[in-house]
Amino acid sequence: MSNVINVAEIFGENVFNDAVMQERLPKKTYKELKKTIEEGKELQAATADVIAHEMKEWAIEKGATHYSHWFQPLTGATAEKHDSFISAPKADGKVLMEFSGKELIKGEPDASSFPSGGLRSTFEARGYTAWDCTSPAFVKKDSEGTGAILYIPTAFCSYKGEALDQKTPLLRSMEAIDKQSIRLLRLFGNTTSQKVTPSVGVEQEYFLVDREKYLKRKDLVFTGRTLFGANPPKGQELDDHYFGAIRERIAAFMKDVNEELWKMGVSAKTQHNEVAPGQHELAPIYVQCNVAVDHNQLVMETLKQVAYRHNLHCLLHEKPFQGVNGSGKHNNWSLVTDDGINILDPGKTPHENIQFLLVLTCILKAVDRHAELLRESAADVGNDHRLGANEAPPAIISAYLGEQLEDVLAQLISTGEAAHSLKGGKLHTGVSTLPDFSKDATDRNRTSPFAFTGNKFEFRMVGSRDSVAAPNVVLNSIVAEAFSDACDYLEQAEDFDLAVHDLIKCYASEHQRIVFNGNGYSEDWVVEAERRGLPNIKTMVESIEYLTTDDTVNMFEKFEVFNRAELESRAEIKYETYSKAINIESRSMIDIASKHIIPAVIKYVTSLANSINQVKQACAGASVEVQEELLLQASSLLSDTKKALKRLEEVTEQVTGKEEGKEQAYFFMEQVVPAMEALRKPVDNLEMIVDKSMWPMPSYGDLLFEV
Ligand code: ADP
Ligand code: MG
Repeated sequence: MSNVINVAEIFGENVFNDAVMQERLPKKTYKELKKTIEEGKELQAATADVIAHEMKEWAIEKGATHYSHWFQPLTGATAEKHDSFISAPKADGKVLMEFSGKELIKGEPDASSFPSGGLRSTFEARGYTAWDCTSPAFVKKDSEGTGAILYIPTAFCSYKGEALDQKTPLLRSMEAIDKQSIRLLRLFGNTTSQKVTPSVGVEQEYFLVDREKYLKRKDLVFTGRTLFGANPPKGQELDDHYFGAIRERIAAFMKDVNEELWKMGVSAKTQHNEVAPGQHELAPIYVQCNVAVDHNQLVMETLKQVAYRHNLHCLLHEKPFQGVNGSGKHNNWSLVTDDGINILDPGKTPHENIQFLLVLTCILKAVDRHAELLRESAADVGNDHRLGANEAPPAIISAYLGEQLEDVLAQLISTGEAAHSLKGGKLHTGVSTLPDFSKDATDRNRTSPFAFTGNKFEFRMVGSRDSVAAPNVVLNSIVAEAFSDACDYLEQAEDFDLAVHDLIKCYASEHQRIVFNGNGYSEDWVVEAERRGLPNIKTMVESIEYLTTDDTVNMFEKFEVFNRAELESRAEIKYETYSKAINIESRSMIDIASKHIIPAVIKYVTSLANSINQVKQACAGASVEVQEELLLQASSLLSDTKKALKRLEEVTEQVTGKEEGKEQAYFFMEQVVPAMEALRKPVDNLEMIVDKSMWPMPSYGDLLFEV
């Protein structure tokens, strides 16, 4: 019965987790490490040596020969360099397997090949990786199970300690929100909780296509999305795929994905088909923020690797197919104390409700104040095809609270107190007594970019391929700022009850405009949002500047998450990333159109012309009307294609004259992208009329329905 998976047995079997540490480390060492993990105490060199040794022994038992400081540079992917455990050969020619505390704690990859956005000049190319002991190390085996590597999650910084990665600011932002949340809890009489950590659960969407067909689509191979492609006769209009039965081939794939993830301690929980044909979703159970970010990277890598084994290809791009639903990620976020209290839980007593209402209104204030920044955190080249494109959350940030909570806020604003709650919730009066609202009193809203769902906020703008680090850095930091402001005020208050009540009322009124419970996909909302003065930033390029506004810089600097130089470097990298991606897309289009599509269409029109001549020769009276009409149509589209191709070639050439960075990115967005769209149009029309056997690549129908 080799097919039966004993989940409980395999879960975490390749993770150097707490249980393993407790079992293998000397008591004293374990205690010291726990102190570091829980309280951030610095680790002694001697302790690190003991841990490294045990970690190595354990990893070797799992078959590992190498270790890797695993980090997340600003390339969007993870990076790893493998070092074997072997020492220099001794006099007798034998080697030892060694791993020191120093090697565990600090690595020095050649940083010069990773983007630094000008932070690091070439003469100081040093970069360091530093062990994040709060995210457990694990062993990853390759698909055949022959080789294995010990992965050590690390942060990546420059020689001067500037963040060059996703994890460093994330860890800093977690410290900020911890500190400010504890301050807030103390004001409400909580003296027991010692730490507050953001909990994050990431729902990941993806497409699966057949690998053979994928390889025939050079656009998918080069750019991750189709640059051409007419819509199939059947799309997602029947909604027969969503939550539909999972086909055997896909089910076998999912089983392997789960198994791999479970072994690495990723608690893959939910899997189902998504809206579009060929689209699926995977969600793990939420964990602390930095671990969730690491795990999401593992999820994406595992989906890709396992797909390969199944002769499938996993597309993580936000919009692999035009006209078909795109893919995103839902970042579920809440704040949980070390003694298990979720402070985003409305709670059962009025006292808890007040604390909750303050937390809630602080979050609204944070999101309203920094809406542009939050929007930017989900900006990604592929996400431009999705956000606001009438299928995904709009590009406008708003928060959904549900009728019941919105009603509570409305009462607070109009009368200064909430006397009742909708749908028969308990009734309380007076300043320190606010209504006890039950969860799920209202329906779900799936069109909101930032929705309160019972005891967490769900940020739905993130792109499927993007790291969730940036959105969490922003959420943690902006909420820390709002908590800090509230605490500054409340700590000075003479009458706490009165002050907190006033503050909730004030925040609720001042930031009410960010609350929207209606249909986020509707045109009316765009108009209404504009009336409310909410920003509507439609593209990645336009959002980047919000990384470096004074408001953003002050907020991040105050909580020591980023300094100005780090933010400027990130903006620089984003402009570059955008330009590079569009440049690749445009060159791929030029290549495919000139070498594959135009020659195929020429063959087709020639075959039509031959057919006309031959038919006429064979029988003078026979009608060649159809062939002639097709010939005219195809020739005219062919000429449109050639013109559009020429235009795209020209604008792509002009890029070289533009200054790198912002100017170039704007040029790509304003000139190259429209030229690409213009080339796509006649080609997609040609695909509708050209003989299928002559079309140089698999169609949308082939890709989406034949998996
Ligand atoms: P949906 O209703 O959006 O389909 P679920 O309720 O199944 O989602 O949860 C989606 C994700 O949210 C999962 O990864 C889940 O673990 C996570 N999640 C649930 N509760 C919390 C919480 N309190 N904080 C953060 N994430 C959470
Ligand atoms: Mg969801």
